[in-house]
Amino acid sequence: MNEVQKPKKPLIFYYGIVLLVILLFNLIAVPWMAERQIKEVDYGTFMAMTEENNIGRVNVQNNRIVFTDKDNTQIYKTGLMDDPGLIDRLHNSDAVFSSEIIEETSPFLSFLLTWILPMVIFIGLGQFMTKQLMRKAGGQNSMMFNMGKSNAKVYVKSSDGIKFSDVAGEDEAKENLAEIVDYLHNPGKYTEIGASMPKGILLVGPPGTGKTLLAKAVAGEANVPFFSMSGSEFVEMFVGMGASKVRDLFKQAKEKAPCIVFIDEIDAIGGKRDGRAGGNDEREQTLNQLLTEMDGFEGDTGVIILAATNRPETLDPALTRPGRFDRRVPVELPDLKGREEILKVHAKKIKVAADVDFGHIARMASGASGAELANIVNEAALRAVRSGRKEATQDDLEESIEVVIAGYQKKNAIMTDKEKMIVAYHEIGHALVAARQTDSAPVQKITIVPRTSGALGYTMQVEEGNHYLMSKEEMENKIATVTGGRAAEEVAIGSVTTGASNDIEQATRIARAMITRYGMSEDFGMVALETVTNQYLGGDASLTCSPETAREIDRQVVSLVKKQYEKAKRIITENKDKLDELARHLYRNETITGEEFMNILNS
Ligand code: ADP
Ligand code: MG
Ligand code: ZN
Repeated sequence: MNEVQKPKKPLIFYYGIVLLVILLFNLIAVPWMAERQIKEVDYGTFMAMTEENNIGRVNVQNNRIVFTDKDNTQIYKTGLMDDPGLIDRLHNSDAVFSSEIIEETSPFLSFLLTWILPMVIFIGLGQFMTKQLMRKAGGQNSMMFNMGKSNAKVYVKSSDGIKFSDVAGEDEAKENLAEIVDYLHNPGKYTEIGASMPKGILLVGPPGTGKTLLAKAVAGEANVPFFSMSGSEFVEMFVGMGASKVRDLFKQAKEKAPCIVFIDEIDAIGGKRDGRAGGNDEREQTLNQLLTEMDGFEGDTGVIILAATNRPETLDPALTRPGRFDRRVPVELPDLKGREEILKVHAKKIKVAADVDFGHIARMASGASGAELANIVNEAALRAVRSGRKEATQDDLEESIEVVIAGYQKKNAIMTDKEKMIVAYHEIGHALVAARQTDSAPVQKITIVPRTSGALGYTMQVEEGNHYLMSKEEMENKIATVTGGRAAEEVAIGSVTTGASNDIEQATRIARAMITRYGMSEDFGMVALETVTNQYLGGDASLTCSPETAREIDRQVVSLVKKQYEKAKRIITENKDKLDELARHLYRNETITGEEFMNILNS
């Protein structure tokens, strides 16, 4: 993709530069050039020349004497001495007293330097600027200030552009967008049977899943101009500026049709207008203008608007109604196969060993977004360089998953022996409870090497395949697994530590969701007690029930977690021998694999 035009600086900026150049010339360059032509001589030479009547013109300044020889061929200067008879002697030697020696030396050259050269620069710059302006669509931008003009970047197709093949997984989204590209290439096929394309397409999904990337791929595939702008770029300090930018953007787009307009992070301008006093006038005006513009052209003009957001629920309903953004394309977190493909796409950019098992890596990185996977591959390459290898190995990739998820290993963090033992018991507790519950996913790896994220150790679980549904039992087991760490501490060491704060949070979240959202409580049945407010950004939820019910929910959450904790403790107690053996093993080795773990457990 090549960028035809960069966002411009205002014209005044260039005029300023030209003025500065002229000033610098006059202040520095001209005097300097003139000074260079002057030859410095000692006072004796000056006196000798005076006596020989060889002085043409002379100028006695306050700290030096500037003079020429009789033929005016050379300028000299010398220091000023305390010489009372000087003026008389000069007068006697027929010297002409003149104050304009330096300026007169080369009137032509100085004229050239002070006036002609800056003018040439000025005209040259002007011409260059005009050309730049002409290239801008419509060429209507020859005003001094281009405030309120959209500075959308225009992309056109080029050989090094991003293609659909660079976006792995996300097949549904790609299919959807491929249809748009196809329509722009040959609209006849569609208009023949009377189909019209949607005006607006909204890409929604969590951060890092490739929404921006997909839009760029559309630009790379479509042979049409592609205007790209971020929602926040519309919002200016002055009210009305954003609206004028929207108007300008659409004007340009209509002139260039067929074309694609892409507005990234549209929630910056497309948020609900709530009519509250002191609302954001500028944003609302911008949104109103966008709504008007989207109504202002027919579906067959060939302008297609793409937008991306990870907060679709905050968008104004007027924006998402049919006729505006009437198609919504979900861009979800990649599944197992998608993750494997994304890893492979990014692995092409680095050198990887031939025996790397991407399927395995993909399974380990469950829940990772495309951006995180790209990051994992890059970290692996960096790790390979750090250890002096020519290509990234399976080990590098596995370690970089942990780096991306948990931070770097803190090599010289000092844990006391006792702490290390506690962490070992804690982690083995998680793994043991997971393994002893039939439905829980097997353990991939357990480590007690502290991480820069603050984790003192962790147990990595692996999902065998894709999971779309979770049963009530599985969720309960998950709570038990999460509480297993604390249970092991209590059973083996007899006291509890602060190390389980993260676990507690997680257990509570699962238990609460079971009761308020999944209808898995004892007596509430299928009533939604909570609504999720932002599905793609962590999924915060807010309660929608009476305070009495809220109290009852809390009670049930407590009893649910408590029950699972008791279960975890029971499993740990029943397997106390194994717990000790495994914890000691982990303490000695700091990291053990899932296989080692199962071997010891089953021996
Ligand atoms: P967002 O959805 O937040 O706009 P981006 O499109 O900016 O995410 O993705 C960030 C980066 O993550 C991309 O530049 C790309 O390297 C990587 N990435 C994300 N999804 C994918 C994917 N499906 N295939 C390949 N790379 C991806
Ligand atoms: Mg983005
Ligand atoms: Zn834990």
